[in-house]
Amino acid sequence: MGLRIYNSLTNQIDEFIPIEDGKVSMYNCGPTVYDYFHIGNARTFLVADIIRRYLEYKGYQVKFVQNFTDIDDKIINRANEEGVSASQLSSRYIEAYFEDSEKLGIRPADVHPKATDHIPEIIQLIERMVDKGIAYEVDGDIYYRIHKFLDYGKLSNRKPEDLLSGARVGIDKRKENPRDFDLWKNVKPNEPSWSCPWGCGRPGWHIECSAMAIKHLGESIDIHAGGQDLQFPHHENEIAQSEVLTGKTFARYWVHTAFLRIGGNRMGKSEQNFIFVRDALKDHSAEAIRHFLVSAHYRSPLDYNATSLSDSDSAIRRLNNCLERIGPYSELADSEVSTSDSEITRAAAEMLTNFELAMDEDFNTALAMGEIYKLVGHVNRFLTQEKLIQVDRVALGIAYQSLIKVCMVLGIYSELESIPNGNTQLVDQLMELVIDIRNDSRLRKDWVMADKVRDRLHEVGIELRDTPSGTNWEWRGD
Ligand code: AMP
Ligand code: ZN
Repeated sequence: MGLRIYNSLTNQIDEFIPIEDGKVSMYNCGPTVYDYFHIGNARTFLVADIIRRYLEYKGYQVKFVQNFTDIDDKIINRANEEGVSASQLSSRYIEAYFEDSEKLGIRPADVHPKATDHIPEIIQLIERMVDKGIAYEVDGDIYYRIHKFLDYGKLSNRKPEDLLSGARVGIDKRKENPRDFDLWKNVKPNEPSWSCPWGCGRPGWHIECSAMAIKHLGESIDIHAGGQDLQFPHHENEIAQSEVLTGKTFARYWVHTAFLRIGGNRMGKSEQNFIFVRDALKDHSAEAIRHFLVSAHYRSPLDYNATSLSDSDSAIRRLNNCLERIGPYSELADSEVSTSDSEITRAAAEMLTNFELAMDEDFNTALAMGEIYKLVGHVNRFLTQEKLIQVDRVALGIAYQSLIKVCMVLGIYSELESIPNGNTQLVDQLMELVIDIRNDSRLRKDWVMADKVRDRLHEVGIELRDTPSGTNWEWRGD
């Protein structure tokens, strides 16, 4: 059986059939760049990253586009507060996005379009809508006439009556219909603006994504992704704008990631309960953060608490220890020795099959990761036996390669984590001893000794991280 994806458009799990055989076009709504991104945002970016990696693992050629919303009320307000221009502020956070996402192991998209680089395309779409009577102007603002698109509400399953009550808050009497949404906002003092056929102003948020997706991926795309809060109105409006002009299905599969929560509430900037990725990275490895974020299926809410990331630290340590122990056998994996009778070869093959089954069923990373750790447990038990014969070594090499292959899809393994040519068990034991000695120094308030231990370890490429649940260490690499 092939890949199946839960499609928010059909409310069911659909078989995945791309528009063009062997190729996938994918658009993910990217960050609004007025601040650093938090681990809630990261969950949504990571889900898109893993979908892309898994599609590639399956042999598809993927074109992946993720935009930057670089003009928006929040950006303008923050820029005015800081006395800088909106573009200075957004450039700062675009740079920060690239830094943090690289550290977190999120691969850059093939294209990262910025809304402000697409003003002519946006204006052109709006003009076409005005010409067709789908959009209208009031005092320099342009609105979309919602009743012109009969399918409006198909993504969010909302009826016009529901939309009406939702839109009553802050009703704008100048609109023909309270449900109409803005495509273009007339210029206001202290706001950036661009000239357009209706004077001067700036685009609305929804039209930006329609314009960037169409420009970089064409009028019909395979997969459109984003956080669950974007399903309505953002994605509903993207469909309305694009399909009313092209007459084509804008996106065939709509994928929405559930929220990362903290204390039962959505993690969000407005809720003031967020943890920036760059802060989480001070205490935890990227692999541990990713491990935590993929530990639940993307459509289930995921709860963050004080121990979440340290539990993932331990799990990653367990995985790395296993990989480091069997890594030396990896070169044997391609040897002629037959391992078909080996329990480890069978377990590795079973892991690969089950990993793929789990990922094929709507990217179930939770189940997929369970399969990885099942094999890790099996290998660790196997390694306790006293004597390994050549067949075992070859089988362990095969297990190693299978594990690396799938860990790369989830991004929970990085070569930097492993100590080159190390006897990892011994290194682990020695590091435990060093950390104990340092902890004793700290208890005695002998800060000079504690700092000396940390600094000397740093010099040899080992970083210590003090976390609420104890001190972790990581090999930084060269
Ligand atoms: P923003 O920068 O606010 O435009 O958000 C960027 C992406 O992060 C969007 O796809 C949001 O839906 C998503 N997002 C925001 N908060 C969370 C959260 N707590 N959990 C998962 N995704 C989120
Ligand atoms: Zn968007």
